[in-house]
Amino acid sequence: MKNLFSKVHDTLPVFGIEDELYSVLYTPGYFILLKNSYRACGRQVCSAPENIHDLSVRRSVNALLEHARQNQVEWSRMQQQPFSVESLTIHAGDECNFNCSYCYLKVSDGKKSKLSGFPAKDLISTSLHSVYKNEQYFDKPLTVVYHGSGEPTLHWKELTDTWNTIQDFAARKGIRLFHYIATNASLNQMQADWLAEHMNLVGISCDGPPELQNRLRSPAKPNALSVEGVCRRILEKGGRFDIRATITRETMMLQPEIVEYLIGKCQAQNIRIEPVYLAGGAGFCEQDADVFVRSYLLAGKYAQSKGVDISCSGVRIEEMHGTFCDVLRNNLRLMPDGEVRNCFCYSSGSDDLSLGRVEDHRFSLKATAALEAIKNKASMVPEECTNCINLYHCSRGCPDFCFFADGKDHKRLNAFRCRLHQLLTVTWIKELAHQKIVSHDSV
Ligand code: SF4
Ligand code: SF4
Ligand code: SF4
Repeated sequence: MKNLFSKVHDTLPVFGIEDELYSVLYTPGYFILLKNSYRACGRQVCSAPENIHDLSVRRSVNALLEHARQNQVEWSRMQQQPFSVESLTIHAGDECNFNCSYCYLKVSDGKKSKLSGFPAKDLISTSLHSVYKNEQYFDKPLTVVYHGSGEPTLHWKELTDTWNTIQDFAARKGIRLFHYIATNASLNQMQADWLAEHMNLVGISCDGPPELQNRLRSPAKPNALSVEGVCRRILEKGGRFDIRATITRETMMLQPEIVEYLIGKCQAQNIRIEPVYLAGGAGFCEQDADVFVRSYLLAGKYAQSKGVDISCSGVRIEEMHGTFCDVLRNNLRLMPDGEVRNCFCYSSGSDDLSLGRVEDHRFSLKATAALEAIKNKASMVPEECTNCINLYHCSRGCPDFCFFADGKDHKRLNAFRCRLHQLLTVTWIKELAHQKIVSHDSV
């Protein structure tokens, strides 16, 4: 990734970005600007700040280095923090009423087994009773996520029964809940109303205007509302939703049009762009990243002009994060077969993908040491990432890259996602730097 950035300190996460008039020195969460006189000497400046004559520059560099040290401390604190439940994901099986051309369930790599059904009520009750034996959880809110390999609303009765079970349990114990569902939005009016009234947030997946949506995905079921209709209904009922749009090679240049549709016709206030993953030969290649980013940034400008939030989930520079492993997000992912899994997309494979099991009214998580080992592996910084500007805020390209993969392909960092994440990060930092220049706040 030449010329995008360089690491300018041997041991600390400090990176230099050259812009026309300034150098930007960056560590996650903090940056400074160096004027012309200090340009192109980021490395010398950072390795011996005591030699900087200008006091204000020396102070700024020292503050930056201190932030970089704190980042290292914070990352290792996050790694060492014991697993402690903050959310429960009810993971439905592979059944889906869509047949999207890019669906990851179609790509067989020997790591996915068929998973069907919906976690039974007694599995959920047993898990909740076991977690809430522990007093430390009582004054913490619990996020409940309804997600799946396939579509959770296909199991309508189980879904609504589960909501009631969890709600009753929480009311008895005084637990605050936040319910979230991820759905393909193929819903009739009764279902849309129910979700609006019972979920704190509905995550709708929609890939753009009907002609695109119908081409990439199968048309919704006959009595279903349109996506626009579902969104309208949720808002009319006082509910909230966000939209996730999967972008493929076919649609990567259409991101401005897609975002315009989601804002104009679906009234989206929050949009997440997701480059398609696990798409085999139809996936992105490294050369696509520059085109993808140009289109994404245009879409972002439009969204910004309308006051709408837009994000790309793989890289979030405002927070320290790694892969989507559940163990890093203190999430219990309960599968229909009673397994507690560490992963949203691989439902079988390495033993590290299992965090525990619910069986015969017994809930057992793995021993603390085993969970710690899984967490350590999931939060590892691969050698290739140590000199990368994203080392503390990157999904590493998960799930196209997976620490737990047995197969060689998914053990290698994904070149498209690396280039994409680096381009986005450098662009965002330059934008922040320009804002700072406008406010004349540089050293
Ligand atoms: S809606 Fe999701 S699970 Fe269903 S076919 Fe499409 S991508 Fe696959
Ligand atoms: S790193 Fe692997 S196990 Fe973890 S969430 Fe990603 S694909 Fe799943
Ligand atoms: S996966 Fe790629 S972009 Fe992310 S930190 Fe590693 S090298 Fe950087």
